[in-house]
Amino acid sequence: MAKLYIVPTPIGNLEDITFRAVKVLSEADLILAEDTRTSSTLMKRYNITVHMESHHKYNEHKSVERVAEKILSGMNVALISDAGTPGISDPGFLLVRECRERGIEVETLPGPTAFVPALINSGYPADRFCFEGFLPMKKGRQTRLKDLSEEQRTIIFYESPYRLVKTLTQLAEYLGEEREAAVSRELSKFHEENRRGTLSELAAWYTANEPRGEIVIVVSAKKRDPGNR
Ligand code: SAM
Repeated sequence: MAKLYIVPTPIGNLEDITFRAVKVLSEADLILAEDTRTSSTLMKRYNITVHMESHHKYNEHKSVERVAEKILSGMNVALISDAGTPGISDPGFLLVRECRERGIEVETLPGPTAFVPALINSGYPADRFCFEGFLPMKKGRQTRLKDLSEEQRTIIFYESPYRLVKTLTQLAEYLGEEREAAVSRELSKFHEENRRGTLSELAAWYTANEPRGEIVIVVSAKKRDPGNR
């Protein structure tokens, strides 16, 4: 029976792809990609010539039923995103849910995702953590920040370079200026940078040194109230 394969792809360094990911992509009948032009670089590198169609947040609501029909008709479909694991701050969830509801088998390959290296690199406890993805840009942002002020696990955010300073400044305001955090930029790429400091130190650093590239923020856990152990 045909399946849906969820295939993680590199977050920067093209060598960070598994042998199995290359095999599954090469043998698929159809590859769904967020941006077919972006993914064509990876396909060329690994000599993958399978037909690609676009599947992104603007068309996924409409296309999930059609994709499920294709799989039911016998096509093996592989879903990739521009980088990392589909479904992690990227399209994927709707298609997996549709396939599950129709009894279509889904196989998710293990592979690259940006938050894992950032979390491990931070040196903060990874036995329990929460992944917040991107903070809402407007509506709900303050409520989310307020809720997170009570969070007692290590917290991970994805952020764009254009909003990094604003987000670090607001995190300092809601979680405390002295809270330790780490910023991982351009993971696995030539200009990779991992910087640690308090939230206010990091906000000041990136105000003075305009950040570029892709960014993960890891915030250390709120210290437990000593009377509450
Ligand atoms: N699906 C991806 C994953 O599994 O990590 C995430 C996709 S999301 C649209 C893109 C965000 O992931 C970026 O804005 C950044 O926060 C983070 N990211 C992706 N690649 C990164 C990298 N090489 N270094 C640091 N952060 C990265």
